[in-house]
Amino acid sequence: MTPVKYKELYSWPILGHSHIIKFLQTCITRDSLSHAYLFHGQKYTGKFLTTTFFSSSILCQSSNKIKPCGSCSSCQQLKRNIHPDLTLLTPEEDKKNISIEQIRNLQHVLSLRSFLTSYKIAIIDNADSMTEAAANALLKTLEEPPPKTILILIAESLTNLPRTIVSRCQTIQFNVIATEKITNWLTSQGKSKREAQIIARYANGRIGKAEILSSNDDILNSYKDRVKLLLEIIKSNTNQKFAIINSMLPKQITLSAYGEINSLLDDWLTLFRDIFLAKNNKSLITNFNLQDTLVKISDNYSYKKLIHIINNIIRSKKLIKYQVSPKLIFENLALSL
Ligand SMILES: [Zn+2]
Repeated sequence: MTPVKYKELYSWPILGHSHIIKFLQTCITRDSLSHAYLFHGQKYTGKFLTTTFFSSSILCQSSNKIKPCGSCSSCQQLKRNIHPDLTLLTPEEDKKNISIEQIRNLQHVLSLRSFLTSYKIAIIDNADSMTEAAANALLKTLEEPPPKTILILIAESLTNLPRTIVSRCQTIQFNVIATEKITNWLTSQGKSKREAQIIARYANGRIGKAEILSSNDDILNSYKDRVKLLLEIIKSNTNQKFAIINSMLPKQITLSAYGEINSLLDDWLTLFRDIFLAKNNKSLITNFNLQDTLVKISDNYSYKKLIHIINNIIRSKKLIKYQVSPKLIFENLALSL
């Protein structure tokens, strides 16, 4: 079957994902919108930004060729986050999940008539955090969607969503984009070539991450500091390892601390992937400004040992989800180096 070719009709300022953008824009202009979309892919790959332009273009009332126009009453309301036909659902503050009450409220909102246009849109961010009861309740809406309703679910992975939900949505996968594209974008934003290369490598193909790192030097510097400490752990004795871990972990284990700990594990994973790559494919190293150090460290590790460590870190990321003590996880990891 020949793949369908879509044209980009409106210029949405989104880097990469051109085939997704063309497809969504075609859905709008042909009025062939699905009642539910599921955008999935790694964090920071542009899912939310695409959702923003997609939903605002659907709601935009302008008859000209640029959508969203940014100036009609609908676009103005969207800018001020007060559009009556757009609902954004995220896990409630201090709670990890989207609850059944939130889904029931959403169902009530969707049952009311549209205020301004013919469409009502609901965005469910972190849809994979819905409780089982919430997912079951949402399933009813997906099975019998109210007319002119569009649900956009955003999730990192499909594995945490019931198959019954996934099968009722038009799924769209967001992949990472080429590092070179991100480097070029960063230089066009005024970054020096060297800076752009460093940020693009850290971002690992995730444009959202590149944006965050480039707009805030503190975030980039604290990343560099964390990597330095992780390198320290490798060459330290057991007592020193534990002391460094203690200094790195958040003092109180709150919900946001778990996010921080997960990022720390991601940094550790990237570092050990780099040590692995230092042995065979240096051009793909993320922390390429540390290349010489990484090559030296890699001499002390066999491939087998590195794969074992990388698997350990991946397993630790799963354990964190089950709220196993972060101190225990990190100490075990440190001892396995
Ligand atoms: Zn508009």
